[in-house]
Amino acid sequence: MMLVLGLAAGLWGLGHRLRAPVALRLALLAGLWAAVVLAHLVLPEGAGLRQTLGGTAASWAVLGGVAGLALAYARGIKWLKAKTTPAAAPEGPFRQAELDRYSRHILLHEIGGPGQMRLKSARVLVVGAGGLGSPVLLYLAASGVGTLGVIDDDRVEGSNLQRQIIHTDQRIGMAKVQSAEIAVRALNPFVEVRPYQRRLDADIAEALIADYDLVLDGTDNFDTRYLVNRVCAKLGKPLIAGAITQWEGQLSLYDPARGTPCYECVFPERPLPGMVPACAEAGVAAPLPGIIGAMMAMEAVKHLTGAGETLAGRLMLYDALHAENRVITVKRRQGCAACGS
Ligand SMILES: [Zn+2]
Repeated sequence: MMLVLGLAAGLWGLGHRLRAPVALRLALLAGLWAAVVLAHLVLPEGAGLRQTLGGTAASWAVLGGVAGLALAYARGIKWLKAKTTPAAAPEGPFRQAELDRYSRHILLHEIGGPGQMRLKSARVLVVGAGGLGSPVLLYLAASGVGTLGVIDDDRVEGSNLQRQIIHTDQRIGMAKVQSAEIAVRALNPFVEVRPYQRRLDADIAEALIADYDLVLDGTDNFDTRYLVNRVCAKLGKPLIAGAITQWEGQLSLYDPARGTPCYECVFPERPLPGMVPACAEAGVAAPLPGIIGAMMAMEAVKHLTGAGETLAGRLMLYDALHAENRVITVKRRQGCAACGS
């Protein structure tokens, strides 16, 4: 009998090593057991093989019965467990892949599931797919903002790639909004991207901005910047505007509908043409738009989820050359032509 049990153990071990399915290993053992019982029934008493196998047909039958009962018991317990274990936590509006993707956000108690849901249902318009627009779009997409609009009339040029990291060398010549759409889709397929390949002008500004909950402006064009601010103020849409030049950057959240100043309250005088040189003329340090743009995206996530304190009513100034950061309080200006306070 010990010989047969040893053989059975050997077979089980070999099956385990070969990663054979448990069902196949059990079937092999059942076959071995059946062969032993059959040998006892068929061979005459006193036959050499029966002596070697040991025991009697009855003892082997009892052993088989006990093993069968144990197996049935284990299977029954497993079935009962599966039946009584509650189903996986309901996913709600998120698919499992999204829950995995946003798990590090959901862990933050300031964001959590409700905050992530607010990001998913948010519609954010990004004006400009350049230096600031690049990190803004990438981080908002990665954060799980559900709908991202992006408006820009430019095409990707080789000289953009030093800082406009949403574009690639292969996409030189492509419309920036199309290049940005490719990058955003590659990063997060759960985001709906709406590219508008045109300049944001007075003809469409109101109709376009009315369709969004929040606007992030990273253009280096003063006409566009003042227009976006006026339309946002008129429609009561919060605006996160950032600007960079050479080594310095600034950003704030302008939301006059909720008591904070608008961009024009803080910067009432439009600079004379040529007074503030664009990146193309003055140069700009490559990581600077990354820093300011990432902070704009951070403010957007906080604003949308209600986490912490945003830059509403405060202007952040960053001096990269001297590694200095300042935050100053800004107030609404009486008689502001944009927000009418
Ligand atoms: Zn104002």
